[in-house]
Order: sequence, then C-alpha cells, then structure tokens
Amino acid sequence: MIALTDDQLLRYARNILLPEVDVSGQATLLASHVAVIGVGGLGSPVIQYLAAAGVGHLSLIDDDRVEATNLQRQVIHDTSQLGVSKVASARDFVQRLNPEVRVTVHAQRLTPDNCMALLQDVDLVVIGTDNFASRYLANALCQQQQIPLVTGAAIGTSGQVSSFDFAHQATPCFECLYPKGQEEQLSCATAGVLGPVVGTIGSIMAMEVIKILVHLGQPLFGRLLTWDARVMDWQTFNYGRAKNCPCCTETPL
Ligand SMILES: [Zn+2]
Repeated sequence: MIALTDDQLLRYARNILLPEVDVSGQATLLASHVAVIGVGGLGSPVIQYLAAAGVGHLSLIDDDRVEATNLQRQVIHDTSQLGVSKVASARDFVQRLNPEVRVTVHAQRLTPDNCMALLQDVDLVVIGTDNFASRYLANALCQQQQIPLVTGAAIGTSGQVSSFDFAHQATPCFECLYPKGQEEQLSCATAGVLGPVVGTIGSIMAMEVIKILVHLGQPLFGRLLTWDARVMDWQTFNYGRAKNCPCCTETPL
C-alpha cells in the first residue's frame, strides 16, 4: 500500500474519515486506473468526482470536439474550449482541479482495433457515451479481461445505471440487459436532455466506481437503477444472465 503524504491526508480527509474508505481505501483510489469512455454529459460528473476523489490515473476516450450545444450540460467544458477536443478540454479541467491525477487522453472512438490497447492495465471502465457500438465493445472486452464495468445512460428527463462485476463468471453482461438489435436509437442530439439529468446519473456512476474500487457497500451488480426525474421516481430491477446472450455464451458458467 502506498503511504499518503500530509497534503494527501488533508485533501482527502473527508474520504478518509469514512470507516469504509479509511487510509487504505484512499491509497487504493490513488493507485487506481479508470478508463472513462465518453467525455460528455455523463462523463463530466464522472471525471469531476473521480479526479476530486483522487483516482490516480484517468484514461479519457472520446473523439468529439466541444460544441456550443454541449455546454448546457457538459459542465467540465466551457466557452473558451469551443472547438477543442473534449479529452484535451477535460484534461485541462482535471489539472486545474487536482494536478496529481495523471490523465491519458485518447481523442478517438473505441473500435475493435484499438480497444485492447486503450483499455490495457485499466482497473475499471466507466462508459457514458450514447454510442451503442462502443458500449457493446467495452462490454465484451471487459468481460473477456475481467475488468469491472459501470454503465449509465440518460435522455430527456430520465436515466439509468448498472454495473458489471466481471471478476465473477456468473455475472450478467450489458448485452444480457440490452440484446443487440433491440437497443433504442434515441440520442440526446435528437431527443434532448436536461443538464441535471446527466449530472445526477453521472454522479451515481462516479459513486459506483468508487464503491467498486474500495469494495464499499453493494454496487449495482445484476441490478438496473432507473430514475424518472419528472416524478422523482427511483426504481431498481434485478436481472440475470440472458439464456442466449452471445457474449456470455463465449464465457460459459
Ligand atoms: Zn451476456
């Protein structure tokens, strides 16, 4: 376990005060490498809270540039970053917030060709892109490499989060939850979304990441959390492995 400096003990004091985190949990966060796929509305609070919490190494993956229409909800980007790649803008944000966090940027979309290289040596993957191909790809790779995965989605006035514990063979995967071909093709670009919706869902994703890294509480493994902001209704649904999931068939129980 790495020893914390006096500056770190001060900066992370409110984490360390929690018995479930303590100095050892903070040391784990500082030693952790998390890949964030999608540096937009959900990625913003994920990156904010993980950098603030002292997750030691963030790999940011996104091929978009900051556009004016992003600024209503993607709160780590600002007007001065218009036209800049989102990963570079996010790196600047993290460096201002917490300079001791190492940031690796990949201004590219996750593809079958690059996914192995981009996600190697990663302790956890968190994905909040509205690109389903990237989600399926990250799911398959994380399952194969036994990397825990946190996913979230938000649109309009609702959102959802689930986590996947691929260290254990029996865990269902993202494709069990959303079989290919049945995914909704809605996106924020066409359907709209309110900023606090992605802010809330992204914050829950960040919480899931911290919980999984420090083994705190019960992450949303095998559970889907949904939120309808119009009526402030939260629900949790249990789900298991889908019988014919092609992803899980390759790693049988
Ligand atoms: Zn599956």
